[in-house]
Amino acid sequence: MKHYQAAIIGFGKAGKTLAAALGRAGWRVALIEQSSAMYGGTCINVGCIPTKTLVHEAQTASDFAAAMQRKSEVVSFLREKNYLNLAHLEQVDIIDGRAEFADAHTLNIVSDQGAQAIYADKIFINSGAEAIFPSISGLQPGPRIVDSSGILNLTALPKRLGILGGGYIGIEFAAMFASFGSEVTLFDSAPQFLPREDADISAAVQTILQDQGIRMALHTTVNAVSSSSDSVTLHTAQGDRQVDVLLVATGRRPAARQLKPENAGVMLDARGAVSVDRQLKTSVDHIWAMGDVTGGPQFTYISLDDYRIVYDQLLGKGTRSTDDRANIPWSVFMTPTLSRIGLTEAQAREQGRDIQVVSLPVAAIPRARVVNDTRGVLKAWWTGRISRLSAWHCWRWIHMK
Ligand SMILES: Cc1cc2nc3c(=O)[nH]c(=O)nc-3n(C[C@H](O)[C@H](O)[C@H](O)COP(=O)(O)OP(=O)(O)OC[C@H]3O[C@@H](n4cnc5c(N)ncnc54)[C@H](O)[C@@H]3O)c2cc1C
Repeated sequence: MKHYQAAIIGFGKAGKTLAAALGRAGWRVALIEQSSAMYGGTCINVGCIPTKTLVHEAQTASDFAAAMQRKSEVVSFLREKNYLNLAHLEQVDIIDGRAEFADAHTLNIVSDQGAQAIYADKIFINSGAEAIFPSISGLQPGPRIVDSSGILNLTALPKRLGILGGGYIGIEFAAMFASFGSEVTLFDSAPQFLPREDADISAAVQTILQDQGIRMALHTTVNAVSSSSDSVTLHTAQGDRQVDVLLVATGRRPAARQLKPENAGVMLDARGAVSVDRQLKTSVDHIWAMGDVTGGPQFTYISLDDYRIVYDQLLGKGTRSTDDRANIPWSVFMTPTLSRIGLTEAQAREQGRDIQVVSLPVAAIPRARVVNDTRGVLKAWWTGRISRLSAWHCWRWIHMK
């Protein structure tokens, strides 16, 4: 059995960065990836990069086929670059296959070429997350019922696109496909759009999307789905709705169970994520987990920071932990962009904080006039002694830059 100092399961952001860093430091490293179409991980192949390329193409009025072609070129280029970055390192072996634990130091790896086992002193889980298909009768992946990866392989623009789930991924695809010219309907069982945002922010986003022609079917529970060769029907209490393609965007769950973590004594939490401490160590002393599989915020830059925390323990000062990142910024790439850092006003009030709030219509900012897009709102809250007027002026100054 081949012996490595480090085995990394998954070619995600944290995994590939750690593999390169440890390889350069002279460690013998195995990086195991189940699919050659996923070298570089979710972000490069089916996440940030293809979606943001398509958002850009949609904004520059490309036709759908040309946009998909450019998306494929960008992804292929980056996937190859990611592969070569590691393949060139003598100390790193890229092993194709699906890994699972045989015991706390041994991984079984199965591929079309056969099965093999490797032994590793330390193991790092970076297996990411996978789309959730809710249990609704008839809701099975197929040519017309797709997740966020499947929709990236469409060969023709659907005339009518249904999106199940009004979360951040659903919104990005809704805005993008509406710009390409699809009739888009967002279906969500929640009565309020974006329930985790403040009501004024979700209302502003809803108005912007509706002005773009996107229909909102909120408070709509889909009881069953049936598909034929040319359409998909959603059966709801409000009646049947027909679309040409249905995107299922109801969340992503950690890809942990299939690793057979119980064989190594690695504990999962109630949501099926790998349980980790603040330094990303699992319940087993020589096994760590990084990225989406830990059940934390699902962003590439969080996975990268997870790498930094683990690397710091292995070859640094050992001072980094997840406690260092109190406020995590994020954006949804609609136009204009929805971004937030920190708690919402509602969350801050729930925590009993004594806060002051200021909100400013984007239309009040000269830059919005310059670029001729006055949609949206800016909002901030703070505690302490800053006056409302100073906060307003400070913000206005920032946004004029
Ligand atoms: C549509 C979409 C858009 C997104 N847009 C953004 C964005 O704009 N900005 C942002 O920051 N984040 C975005 N994200 C989230 C981001 O892509 C993820 O948070 C990030 O890629 C997670 O990286 P990771 O390191 O956890 O692992 P991943 O990159 O998910 O990699 C995990 C790898 O492990 C492999 N694997 C799984 N199980 C096994 C196994 N048993 N054996 C071997 N290999 C295995 C998988 O094939 C995969 O390649 C988006 C996600 C999606 C789906």
